[in-house]
Amino acid sequence: TEESTLSIIVIGASGDLARKKIFPALFALFYEDRLPENFTIIGYARTIMTSEELRNIISTTLTCRIDKRENCDEKMDQFLKRCFYHSGQYSSEEHFFELDRKLKEKEAGRQSNRLFYLAIPPNMFVDVVRCARRRASSEDGWTRVIVEKPFGRDLESSRELTRELRQYLSEDQIFRIDHHLGEELVENLLVLRFSNLVFGPLWSRNYIRNVQFIFSEDSGTEGRGRYFDNYGIIRDIMQNHLLQILALFAMETPVSLDAEDIRNEKVKVLRSMKPVKLEDVVVGQYKGCCEGDTSYPGYTDDPSVSDDSLTPTFTAATLFVNNARWDGVPFLMIAGKALQSKRAEIRVQFKHVPGNLYNKKFGTDLGQATNELVIRVQPDEAIYLKINNKVPGLGMRLDRSDLNLLFKARYPRESPDAYERLVLDAIEGERRSFIRSDELDAAWEIFTPLLKEMEKKKIAPELYTYGSSGPVGVHYLAAKHNVRYEDYC
Ligand code: NAP
Repeated sequence: TEESTLSIIVIGASGDLARKKIFPALFALFYEDRLPENFTIIGYARTIMTSEELRNIISTTLTCRIDKRENCDEKMDQFLKRCFYHSGQYSSEEHFFELDRKLKEKEAGRQSNRLFYLAIPPNMFVDVVRCARRRASSEDGWTRVIVEKPFGRDLESSRELTRELRQYLSEDQIFRIDHHLGEELVENLLVLRFSNLVFGPLWSRNYIRNVQFIFSEDSGTEGRGRYFDNYGIIRDIMQNHLLQILALFAMETPVSLDAEDIRNEKVKVLRSMKPVKLEDVVVGQYKGCCEGDTSYPGYTDDPSVSDDSLTPTFTAATLFVNNARWDGVPFLMIAGKALQSKRAEIRVQFKHVPGNLYNKKFGTDLGQATNELVIRVQPDEAIYLKINNKVPGLGMRLDRSDLNLLFKARYPRESPDAYERLVLDAIEGERRSFIRSDELDAAWEIFTPLLKEMEKKKIAPELYTYGSSGPVGVHYLAAKHNVRYEDYC
């Protein structure tokens, strides 16, 4: 409303995430007219700089989507004028008190709503939350805090972090972000499932043979080795992003689209899963390689990673949801770095057609090819269904073909970045795409025993070449569970 103000405080404003993702997302919301009339953005970090210096830094990363290019510069100027910088320590209540004074000045007596975005290393979270709570929270409106992963390293440390945050914040003030949940096709998963008649009846063990969740990157940990070595791919991608998507994929129909109804169903899926077993996992680590004049470094070539690091940069794992809908259906998760392609997709393989007429008549492989639904989040968002089709002409030849919805062809307008959607959700108090603490707990329960066992037994990852399709072990794992796996990565 006209009487209220929104202050967005980006804690760690001097950092990478703030510059690359948060400020560009805030700017995009501004030019889409999604920010309230009265808003102020304050960057906060220890680095000493002026507001003008912050504006110079962030102005280099702001961009306009193609259809907004016309008055882009003007909009940028207007936006930058609303951005300020305040330097302070993360654990100093006094500095947060000064921040509060500055905020009050900008709020000019109007009702204040404050959103703190913690773009800092997780060991500073609790200090910041304590100081913000005691010295800089809103007195007459809401105060919300967005936190970025990692949320702990295992079940115990995650619980400890939640417990500490909850000393200063209530659960509904905490917005645990998982930016993959802000992606267009992940949002669309529920629309696809629950607003089309044709998918719902097939969405179970009766018709689905297996489901694959694939997240591959074509670059290594370049520059982020120190951070990554402490976590590994299971904590970095699987326990959070892929598991969240699995939960959305597998959940029962929620009572409504309200955040609590959806999150209740996701928790049920996670709690129906048994902890992952070591025998259902293949771990890999990339090694360097040369190709003509170009050479690619191996994971342990990174100076901040020790030569004998056992941290997996690739993992394939089979998980099961032990409920009536999914009993016995393997969910194969694959995540890896330094692979041949960059992609994120869900592949749903359906069962064979019982008594298939075409197998009987032709005995061909083609008659046997099963349907497969692919939801590709990146690159080139698409949903396609592989079907068997007759090749036009005399006689009868079958072909595998796609019913293909390619998003950029159907919807040429650029999609918003995941951070835009999620920051807007946090401003609007929409919690659907943020992780509730019981979800987080249930997710850690699935992976913590595996992580501990791997550490204890010092499981050595299988080496794979930078730019390859990953360790061969993944094919054995797929075969063990009767999953048709091609080198999608
Ligand atoms: P970053 O650049 O390393 O850190 C952000 C800011 O925090 C720095 O500019 C620095 O500001 C302060 N800082 C750094 N190390 C510190 C330390 N040891 N003690 C106290 N302050 C420190 O991190 P980032 O890449 O922006 O990421 C921020 C958070 O988001 C992290 O928790 C990260 O794990 C998470 N995250 C990042 C990404 C990404 O794409 N970058 C993706 C997902 C999650 P001052 O020195 O000026 O105070």
